[in-house]
Amino acid sequence: MFMRVAVGLVLCMLLASIPISSAQSDTKEEETWPGDPIDSHVHMTWAALTLEVNGWADDYPEIVELADVGKSELGKSLWVVRISDWSIENKSDGSAKEVVYIDGGHHGNEYLGTALAWLSAKWYINGWAEGNQEAINVLQNTVLHILIMLNPDGNDIDTRWNINQVDLNRNYDHYWNTCPTTQPGSSAFSESETAANSAYMNAEVADADLYVTMHTGVWIMLYPWGKWPEQPADWELYHQIRDDVNDNISSIPIQNANQGLYPNCGTSRDYGYGVMGYPTFTFETDDEQFVPGSFENLNDRLAEEMDVMRFLINNVWYWRARLDVQSLEVSDNEVTIEVANHGHASTSNATLQYLDSSGQIKWTSSAFTVNATNSTMIALDAGDLDSSGEGSWQMYYQVRVINASRWVTEEIDVQVVTLVEDDEASFLTGFGLFNSLTTIISIIGLAIVMKPEDEDLADNCLAEIQEN
Ligand SMILES: [Zn+2]
Repeated sequence: MFMRVAVGLVLCMLLASIPISSAQSDTKEEETWPGDPIDSHVHMTWAALTLEVNGWADDYPEIVELADVGKSELGKSLWVVRISDWSIENKSDGSAKEVVYIDGGHHGNEYLGTALAWLSAKWYINGWAEGNQEAINVLQNTVLHILIMLNPDGNDIDTRWNINQVDLNRNYDHYWNTCPTTQPGSSAFSESETAANSAYMNAEVADADLYVTMHTGVWIMLYPWGKWPEQPADWELYHQIRDDVNDNISSIPIQNANQGLYPNCGTSRDYGYGVMGYPTFTFETDDEQFVPGSFENLNDRLAEEMDVMRFLINNVWYWRARLDVQSLEVSDNEVTIEVANHGHASTSNATLQYLDSSGQIKWTSSAFTVNATNSTMIALDAGDLDSSGEGSWQMYYQVRVINASRWVTEEIDVQVVTLVEDDEASFLTGFGLFNSLTTIISIIGLAIVMKPEDEDLADNCLAEIQEN
C-alpha cells in the first residue's frame, strides 16, 4: 500500500515535470532580464526591478498583484509580487488556496539567487499567459508571494550587507547573535528590511506551507537548523523531499544548514521554521555569476533549479500533515478511529473533539501522533464522553511537528461515524469465551460423548465446576 502510494506520487511528479519548453519557445514578447551588463553579469538594479514588476501588474492584472510591503533603510520599496488566478477565490473543493512564500536578495551581491526569485515569478506568469497547464493548475490552487529583492540598497552598490553594513541574514529574531558571526546588527530586526520581511510573514503568509529563501554560493539546498547540528523535528518531511528531489529531479545536495554549510544563527530560514513553523529551504544557486540577458537564457541557466522549485510548488499540498478520519466508532467507554495521514509531515499533538449541537466543544481526547504518509487505528479512552444528541466531531491538530507550526480544525464527515449501542455491547460480552455457563455447557456435551469408563472423570469435572 505504502509502495503503491509512493509510486503513484512519483508518477504524479514525473507527469508534473513534463517540459513545457515547446510552449515557451513560441513566445515573442520581450523577455529581457531587467538589468545592465556589469563585469560578466547582467545586474538588475532596484529601479529596473521596480519597472519590471509594475509592468507585470499592469499587463496581467488577472493573475498579478503588486504590494509595497515596506522600505529599505534608504527608503526603496520592498515589492512583493502576488501571483494567483484571481478569478477563483478558493480551490474547487471550497478550501483555501495553498500559500507559498519566496524571497530573494538578502545579500546584495548574490545576483543568481535574486534572479531565481525573479524567474520563479516570471515562469508562472509566462506559463499562464501561454496556456501552460501546469502553471494554470498552480495558479488556480495556490497563491505565490515573491519578494524578489529584500536588500535593494546593498544590491545597487553590489555588496553583501545592507546600507548599515549589517548581514540581513543574521538579523532575524531566532537565536540572534548566538553563533560566531559577523555584523548581525545591533539587535534582532534592527534593520527595516528584515523587520518588514517578518511583518509580512506574520501578517500575510502565516499559513504558508513552503518558504524558500534564495541565495548564491555553493550549489546546495539547506534546511533547518543553522543553529544546531541536530536534525529538525520534521526531519521526515525534509528527508522525503530530499530523496524525491534527488531520485527524480536533481542531484543538488540537500542538507541541514549547520552541517551542510556552517553554524549560523538569526537566519530567515531558522526564523521561518522555528518561529513561523514553515517548511523552509535556503536555495543556494552556484557561484557562477554570469547571467544572460533574456528570460529564455536565464531559464536555461537555472532550468534545474526551476525544476526543483516547480516540484516544491506543485506538491505544496503534501508539505504538512493531512489527517483523514476513515472510520470513527463510539462505544461505551472508548472511541476508536482509523485515521490516514495523506501529508508528508507527521503530527504529534492531534486530538479528537466532540461538539454539541450548538457547536460547543464537549469532549477532547488525549493527544496522539500520526506519522507522515501513514494510516493507523487509535483507541481513545472516552469514559467521560456523553455523545447523546445531535453532536458532531472534529480533528484538532498541528500541521507539522515543530512547536511553531499552525493548528487546524477539520470537521469529520458524519458518514464515517458509527455508534455501538450499549445493549449490543453487553450482548457481545455475553458470548465471551470464558463465560462460565458456556464452559459448563461444553463440558456437559463432552460428558455425553464419553465412554462409560470415563464417566467418573466426567463426573469429577462437573463436580469441580459446581464447586467453583
Ligand atoms: Zn546569501
